[in-house]
Amino acid sequence: MTTPAKPKDAASVVLLRSSKDPNIYWVKRADSLVFMPGVNAFPGGQRDTSDGEIPVLNAESPEAAQMVVCAVRELFEETGVLIAKAVEHADREQLANLRQELLKGNRSFKSILMATGLSLDASMFTPAGRWVTPPFAPRRFDTWFFLTWLPENQTAEIIPGELVKGEWIRPEKALEDWENGQVLLAPPTLHIIRTLAEGIDSDITARLMSIPEATGSIVRRIEMHDGMLLFPVLTPTLPPATHTNCYIIGKEEFVIIDPASPYEEEQTQLAKFIDSLIATGQRPREILLTHFHPDHVGGVAALKKHLNIPVRAHPLTQEKVGELFQIDSIIADNEIILLPGKKPWRLRAIYTPGHAQDHICFFEERTGALVSGDLIVGMGTVVIDPPEGNMRNYLDSLSKVGELPLTALFGAHGAPMGGAHFKVQQYISHRLLRETNILKSVEKGFTTIPEIVKAVYTDVPEKMHKLAERSVLAHLEKLTLDGRVSLEQGHYKALSSLIS
Ligand SMILES: [Zn+2]
Repeated sequence: MTTPAKPKDAASVVLLRSSKDPNIYWVKRADSLVFMPGVNAFPGGQRDTSDGEIPVLNAESPEAAQMVVCAVRELFEETGVLIAKAVEHADREQLANLRQELLKGNRSFKSILMATGLSLDASMFTPAGRWVTPPFAPRRFDTWFFLTWLPENQTAEIIPGELVKGEWIRPEKALEDWENGQVLLAPPTLHIIRTLAEGIDSDITARLMSIPEATGSIVRRIEMHDGMLLFPVLTPTLPPATHTNCYIIGKEEFVIIDPASPYEEEQTQLAKFIDSLIATGQRPREILLTHFHPDHVGGVAALKKHLNIPVRAHPLTQEKVGELFQIDSIIADNEIILLPGKKPWRLRAIYTPGHAQDHICFFEERTGALVSGDLIVGMGTVVIDPPEGNMRNYLDSLSKVGELPLTALFGAHGAPMGGAHFKVQQYISHRLLRETNILKSVEKGFTTIPEIVKAVYTDVPEKMHKLAERSVLAHLEKLTLDGRVSLEQGHYKALSSLIS
């Protein structure tokens, strides 16, 4: 079993302005980022080793001092806002120039504080909890959150790059945008916005810390869109992933997609979580499956028994799972599963073979979120292993979902992602580039699969080459169908030339 990534220290700042009608400053992360692409968040980032070298007044511990420095530095880098003692007397133009120098790496944050004579003070920050990224994400952080007020005479401004947008917004409006499915929010961001929307008073810290997740307990309920819950469960899946995402969609009535874990303890946790939803008056309607792979269906039998609800899947799935459990009804391509509510969820089943012949994605039409199964995942790569896997079908399926008005991807592994079209295009280009390189290597005279892998997969560690051979076979099968290569007595030969 692969161990999940170890969390790294990070700090994040909830910047507030105008105490009479408080606004928060949130930023949108670029689609191209590995961690939380296209997600709205608060400014922040990872601790730097040099953060420990800067003195901080009124800090409770050396550890807390470092995290305050990290918070101040990240906020300054990302928004230009500097939280320091007597900062209102600082020269604003000088600060703007120093920010540029810091971003270019020409100056350290310590030297900036020395040059301006400013000192940092922990009492200018209100602690707002400490959250650990769940073990299902490719990158994990142990993030200290802080609240602070925008100093007079300063303005927040992002420099487009890793962040694409920065905006002041009332917490109530931010919550409304999330409820409408216009933004993706990670659990701490959602919790903080909700808490701030209920008012900002002297017991704000206590209210922010009132749930165990805000003091470092593992987050299991992840609701990046309203009514689209993600409950990652431990599964025997392909590294680097350690978990499969089980999705629970809807409120009054909900469906459960891929109750995946074969482990009893995880099945119990999932059942308990669903029971807690039922206790609030919500009703489970059915279990839906994206495809038959064991790391997606390991908990179906147990959950079906626990809830006594039907299991639904593609017509091919029953044959593939055999006696493991009974499929009660078939999901038709383009079928709409309507889940009632103030804002109903309309899940359209999209047949997307390629990774598996029975693969289905579920497209939520109101928000544009795609539950993408193993078609597109948030971490690791998708295996196309013939004869079950078919590269031509896989690329067709990617193009098919690429034509939908997509906003977000809720994959079966890793964290959900915004910037859906960027990701779909990236997936297609990545496969086509491999295909071109495979064809070129055949033209150069590499005629067997192990030879081609050696020539093409130079960016992949050798221990992964056996797996890469399966992908190469899938590409060669597609190239054969496309009339670009032929197989003669165990050797591949190019039929049309890419290189002259
Ligand atoms: Zn799979």
